[in-house]
Amino acid sequence: MTAIEKVYDPRRFERRWYEHWESLGVFTADPASDRPRYVMVIPPPNVTGRLHMGHALNNTLQDILARWRRMRGDDVLWLPGTDHAGIATQMVVDRELQKEGSSREALGREAFVERVWRWKEEYGGAILGQLKALGCSCDWTRTRFTLEPALSRAVREAFVRLWEDGLIYRDRFIVNWCPRCRTAISDLEVVPQPIAGRLYTLRYPFAEGEGFIDVATTRPETMLGDTGVAVHPEDERYAAFIGRKVRLPLTDRLVPVVADPFVDRAFGTGAVKITPAHDANDFAAAARTGLPALLVMDEGGRMNDNVPAPYRGLDRFEARARVIEDLRAAGVLIEVKDHPHQVGHCQRCGTIVEPYLSMQWFLRIAPLAEDAVRAVADGRVVFTPAHWVNSYNEWMGKIHDWCISRQLWWGHPIPAWHCGACGRLMVARATPERCDACGKTALSPDPDVLDTWFSSALWPFSTMGWPDDTVDLRTYYPTTTLVSGFDILFFWIARMIMMGLKFRGEAPFRSVYITGLVRDAEGQKMSKTRGNVVDPLDLVDRYGADALRFTMAAMATPGADLPLSEERMAGYRAFANKLWNAARFVQMNAPAEGETPAAPAGGGALHGAALALSDRWILSRLERLRGEVDEALAAFRFDEMANALYRFLWHEYCDWYLEMSKPALIAGGESAARTRRVLGEVLECVLRLLHPVMPFLTEEIWQALPERTGETIARAAYPRPGEGRIDAAAEREIDLLVEVVTRVRNLRAELNVDPGRKVPLLYQAHDAEVGALLAREGGLLRSLARLESVEAVPAIAARGLAARAVAAGVDLAVPLEGLLDVDAEKTRLRRELDKLTREREGHAKKLQNADFLERARPEVVAKVRGIDQELGEKIDRLARTLRTLESPGAP
Ligand SMILES: [Zn+2]
Ligand SMILES: [Zn+2]
Repeated sequence: MTAIEKVYDPRRFERRWYEHWESLGVFTADPASDRPRYVMVIPPPNVTGRLHMGHALNNTLQDILARWRRMRGDDVLWLPGTDHAGIATQMVVDRELQKEGSSREALGREAFVERVWRWKEEYGGAILGQLKALGCSCDWTRTRFTLEPALSRAVREAFVRLWEDGLIYRDRFIVNWCPRCRTAISDLEVVPQPIAGRLYTLRYPFAEGEGFIDVATTRPETMLGDTGVAVHPEDERYAAFIGRKVRLPLTDRLVPVVADPFVDRAFGTGAVKITPAHDANDFAAAARTGLPALLVMDEGGRMNDNVPAPYRGLDRFEARARVIEDLRAAGVLIEVKDHPHQVGHCQRCGTIVEPYLSMQWFLRIAPLAEDAVRAVADGRVVFTPAHWVNSYNEWMGKIHDWCISRQLWWGHPIPAWHCGACGRLMVARATPERCDACGKTALSPDPDVLDTWFSSALWPFSTMGWPDDTVDLRTYYPTTTLVSGFDILFFWIARMIMMGLKFRGEAPFRSVYITGLVRDAEGQKMSKTRGNVVDPLDLVDRYGADALRFTMAAMATPGADLPLSEERMAGYRAFANKLWNAARFVQMNAPAEGETPAAPAGGGALHGAALALSDRWILSRLERLRGEVDEALAAFRFDEMANALYRFLWHEYCDWYLEMSKPALIAGGESAARTRRVLGEVLECVLRLLHPVMPFLTEEIWQALPERTGETIARAAYPRPGEGRIDAAAEREIDLLVEVVTRVRNLRAELNVDPGRKVPLLYQAHDAEVGALLAREGGLLRSLARLESVEAVPAIAARGLAARAVAAGVDLAVPLEGLLDVDAEKTRLRRELDKLTREREGHAKKLQNADFLERARPEVVAKVRGIDQELGEKIDRLARTLRTLESPGAP
């Protein structure tokens, strides 16, 4: 047995135990075993990523589940890996090249991709090492990367099958386009931000005859790409104009007035310009009304040759200024007004996103969504919290085809080839040698790569060897649980369900736990601009991984965000420290060699009449704790699990049980030996209960206990409910003793009795059972309340000057004679009362001041009220004590 170090310093042992677990292969799944399976795939962090608080939360919760199930005897697979994160990674290397005075274009596609791979080998995946610092028990032998060859094969296979089933097509469509990144980006990558925009009203005159139509726009440069004006079909103001043509200012083009019910009659003039190539709504309206699309910008956001000569080559914002000027000069700019509104910005580079018509690949997703909705509706996949099902269904109900292509170089190439001779488009698993239509060999690969989320959607089975029929796939698919943030419910979770059903016939997981968002202490979202981002590795360094993990668990109330305060984390660091010191106390009182035969885990052998009341009580409380933890974990109530462990360890075990054990330990002999066994066994058992949340600390202490069996606590059996028994009588009796002790302690404090001083206690029991208990447990009572004597009296009121209190079924009195100088104490109390009363008056004045109540912030007012109330209670207590001293015999 090694001695537990004096000071709790997690840095000294965290890494050591992680290496110990790895060397024992604790985290490695074993498909050959016949144990029940418990499987999770990690939400793969970006290969460029660095651990943030979202990861810390998400992975702590997964690790709690993995460690819990492993200790329960399951064969656990927690499969880790990283995502190649197309656009994010490409930008990292872009920036590197820029610093070197080079560029992606200068390097060329092949060399660039090679360069990204080199970057990935050198720096990528650092985040996995950071997960180890957090204690995550992933099966590192199965680490995957979404762009590794095996997973690329899965991506190609999935793409080809979807193509063969007619679910993938290529078409011109409006997408979110970043002119700086020069690629389509997903809705997820578009960040709406408020801008101080303007609304411009333009006047389009009719081509023939008198009159005009006014239209409003926030992006006047797009008018160069207008191909029509739309009005509502039932709008009487415009009924006569439908079918007529207007002359588009600054151009020589004539465009028609069309009717479409999407127009909002009440907004602006009730007529809208239609720019199909640069607005998603207009694109849809154009498709309905047969208007053509005219692209007026290139991929970099510069005006192209489809606009009149003066604007060609201008950046879209230069073009805007020029168009406004020219419209004004032409007298057709009718009104300009301020119009603050939200505009989408590129998440990666901050550029304003342009709706842009371009040739893209799409996945027809509605048929896949139907199956995915059914899988959730009929309970094959269960969401916690359940309300996320509503968001899921709502999104699935209005789902539109998924643009799966990106104009990047880093990613899975789309497995398609274009024939230069006959224009044939071929999709194939392997690079074709010749065109299957004309037989020519002039084939060029499609330049696009797939959206990163396409490969992520296959993650639960591509990581297990699909499309091959591997042992892992047969054993571990479908997985059991997925733990993820809500921000990727649609982009990832929903698509995994679709793809799992499509390619495996089974949803990829049985339950989904959706975490809240880690916010700062004030409840604000963490962001670089606010400067309130907290680095989990920094927290690990300062508080230890266990305190961070415990904080995450304790705050993980389903459906709620987590306002992270350092105070709270410091509190859980203190909790770890408390446990550490308790373990040292237990170790110092450990059974002597040969004193105790090894008892079975869980304290089963210790139950019986021979045990002291306090022993029976703590074993009963432990039994309840086992039940609470089991129930909490089964329901993803990490918070309830943490709180139950905290309450038991801090309050019941440390505050009360350790104190209760002292008389027996001092007495020596058989009762001391028994108490030592209970102390040790309860500690050993609660360490196992706590291990999934605080793996390092529990291992460090567990290794020093004589009660342990095995090489690591990570493989010890998880305590289950029903191993001990609930001893309701012992709990009732200890509750009563605790109440009596608390009352006496309060009396002592109110009377200002020196903590070292022992006092006598008189009691008059009104309940025979209570009387018997106090008579029987006088020794325990004396030790806990620092009493010199405990005496039952028939009529407590007759006993002269005494401080009195009432507990359930019993009156208590501490005689004051000889205990304190009553006159001096009275003077002290009066002085104290005066002081507090004056202090309270000051606060009361504030609270009566209407000006203060009106102007002060609500939290300041609440604080003053709180102080006022606290002072009031203190004053009442002191006044009561003073009355006791002034009139002997009064309660
Ligand atoms: Zn961008
Ligand atoms: Zn051909």
